[in-house]
Amino acid sequence: MVKKSQSKTKEKSMPNGKYVQKTLTCSTCQKFLKNTQQHNCICKRGIVNIGNSCYISSVLHAVAELNIYSTLPEDSQLGAFLKVLSTHSTKAASPRIALCEINDLWEHRNLQEDAFEFFMTILPLLQSSKFTYEYLSQRLCEICHYTCEAVIREDCSIHMEVNGTSLQEQLQSSVEPIDEICKNCSKGYMMRYKNISKAPEILAVRIVRFMVNEKTGKPSKIWNKVALPAEVTVNGKLYKLEVVILHKSKALHHGHYTVYLRNKKILIDDEKVYYNKTLKLDYSYYYLAFYV
Ligand SMILES: [Zn+2]
Ligand SMILES: [Zn+2]
Repeated sequence: MVKKSQSKTKEKSMPNGKYVQKTLTCSTCQKFLKNTQQHNCICKRGIVNIGNSCYISSVLHAVAELNIYSTLPEDSQLGAFLKVLSTHSTKAASPRIALCEINDLWEHRNLQEDAFEFFMTILPLLQSSKFTYEYLSQRLCEICHYTCEAVIREDCSIHMEVNGTSLQEQLQSSVEPIDEICKNCSKGYMMRYKNISKAPEILAVRIVRFMVNEKTGKPSKIWNKVALPAEVTVNGKLYKLEVVILHKSKALHHGHYTVYLRNKKILIDDEKVYYNKTLKLDYSYYYLAFYV
């Protein structure tokens, strides 16, 4: 099926003697092939599920798509594996050898685990500073106006609360009362102003879907639709939604992870790769979003 599209470019003789190249498309992803020698389409390879490993696969696809693994050493098995994901093959890739390399950091125990925790665990290995951002945190006393401020550096993600406000609103400066008595007057409560002062190169957004049930005291999942805007701005920098990791479940500790590459309209579900998929922007399954 794929080989057919890789056949030599056909040339057609025109009346004036010139030759025009007939364009060919990849039979899998339907993209035009500019150069038939090289397969420069957008085909992706799925990843073999080695037992509840969908959370790993979706994160590895995100890392490959965001191209944040160039710092891995040349002989890295993980690096080689991430490269393979963007090659043209209908056969799913096995992550076993690549995962051996991260065994010290994360041992896959055949349990459904959290994709965000896995991402945070492998982030030091990638040595990527593309997610780092800084914000100015000011604490102000409501009575005596005593102020203290600090610039705080965060290594990774922005946590989006499911509270009815949009992501753009949450990215703008915020004011909130905090549980701290002013040390100057010992009377007033402190208010905290937060303002992102240095925007990250890649904006990673984790939608906080965890809450503790007030009646039972048990953790549960916030099952609300969240609208992810196609574009957001932080400090004048425009970001576009590129990769989304979805968690399909009403519960916290089981369910299924998939990954959506929005620009390329590709949905990857373990071994299966679906092309030309359009997902709506408000969805209950959205969990991690990467804006570039
Ligand atoms: Zn293709
Ligand atoms: Zn005070």
